[in-house]
Amino acid sequence: MKREKIKQILTDAPTGRPALVKGWVRTKRSAKNVNFIALNDGSTINNLQIVADVERFGEELLKDINTGASLAVTGMLTASQGSGQAVELQADSIVIYGKADPEKFPMQPKKHSLEFLREQAHLRFRTATFSAVFRIRHAMAYAIHKYFNDRGFYYLHTPIITASDAEGAGQMFRVTTLPAKQPPLNEGGGVDFTQDFFGRSTNLTVSGQLEGELGATALGEIYTFGPTFRAENSNTTRHLAEFWMIEPEMAFYDIHDNMDLAEDFLKFLTKYALDNCMDDLRFLSTRLQNEEKDKPADQRSMELVEKLQFVLNNDFARCTYTEAIDILRNSKTYQKGKFQFPVEWGVDLQSEHERYLVEKHFRKPVILINYPKEIKAFYMKQNADGKTVAAMDVLFPQIGEIIGGSEREADYDKLTTRMAEMGVPVEEMWWYLDTRRFGTVPHAGFGLGFERFILFVTGMGNIRDVIAFPRTPKNAEF
Ligand code: ATP
Ligand code: MN
Repeated sequence: MKREKIKQILTDAPTGRPALVKGWVRTKRSAKNVNFIALNDGSTINNLQIVADVERFGEELLKDINTGASLAVTGMLTASQGSGQAVELQADSIVIYGKADPEKFPMQPKKHSLEFLREQAHLRFRTATFSAVFRIRHAMAYAIHKYFNDRGFYYLHTPIITASDAEGAGQMFRVTTLPAKQPPLNEGGGVDFTQDFFGRSTNLTVSGQLEGELGATALGEIYTFGPTFRAENSNTTRHLAEFWMIEPEMAFYDIHDNMDLAEDFLKFLTKYALDNCMDDLRFLSTRLQNEEKDKPADQRSMELVEKLQFVLNNDFARCTYTEAIDILRNSKTYQKGKFQFPVEWGVDLQSEHERYLVEKHFRKPVILINYPKEIKAFYMKQNADGKTVAAMDVLFPQIGEIIGGSEREADYDKLTTRMAEMGVPVEEMWWYLDTRRFGTVPHAGFGLGFERFILFVTGMGNIRDVIAFPRTPKNAEF
């Protein structure tokens, strides 16, 4: 008999025919003459109820069917008497692939804390919460490729090992084959990287943008979607040392086209989740409500599905950095001295400021543009005021910055002048500057942190819980 997926069986709910299923036991419950086994095969959050006759299978076999054990079951699909499901499987034969000793298996059928499960990251896929998160993560990765493919963007694979340190001064991971003990030194006493594998100092990439621009200024519209590395020592619920970033880059787009694309893209992904992941979303919504039930009403989050619909159905607010500073300075929070970090024109906004704008002031996602040039990267288009650049950050509830992007400076002289001012090595970047030297065009792009978006869609609170094997300071187990 051919194995069937539990998702398909529960969706079609056929009865009166045999079926073979394979999966892992979530729970087992004993009734008078039968055992009810909840079997999950990862295809859906929902379990198939297996009904096993005690007399037929015997206590000896049934006692080994515990949470975590893996089974193959054949039997007859019948309409279920119970209320939880339309169809169940009356078992004819059960094969145990592997037992899971209840004394030793860490994933017991009870509530485990997310902190505990982080220490069991190899097994946490077996829980309903994490299987839901990773099914949604997959669906979002697929939706990202679909979105861009349907719009004529090309998926460009930019390098993971790079020699350029465009934005990431001091927060890059070095890639080297030189010995850690007594590396070769140059005359100045520094490490002699000419003897290193690539003949120069290399790092893990912090962004595929610069290479992305090279593609966009020929292919028109490209996107990257790959791992990104930052050695910043920020132990927050929103930062990873290794995360995934989606970076579209578009020729002939200005900052407004860029904002429109970012908003449309985020709404497309949100709609895709609502259209395709409803079982998992409902489960995560209930999880979140349980988690927050002891919080005062005004500190609870909006119900998850409602929140996604809200983002889908409302225009994002758009405002300039300068306006945002005014809003913040006029706020009660500021006037009562309740912001931890200073608010004045020229400072970089902190998460507390971003969240105030989104959650308290506009009460919806916000796109901020035209930041002071001093706090932004060298490649951003310089505005006519001489003070700001055409940067844009998209801010989301509970998360803060989810997207950072800009229109790029397309003028060779302005760009190189700014690079010199900011100490960016102009000679080393000759290949990047060639885009401005030959057939330069207005262009723009942005970076979406994949895990930050998954936090939003799943309602999870910690970025370590939306990537399979998180890499954070002092943590690279698994
Ligand atoms: P933040 O100020 O929140 O650290 P950033 O300004 O460093 O972000 P960018 O360099 O603009 O961020 O990167 C683009 C996007 O990548 C961000 O909007 C965010 O979604 C995501 N991102 C940045 N750093 C991290 C990180 N350490 N872990 C996970 N996602 C990140
Ligand atoms: Mn950062």
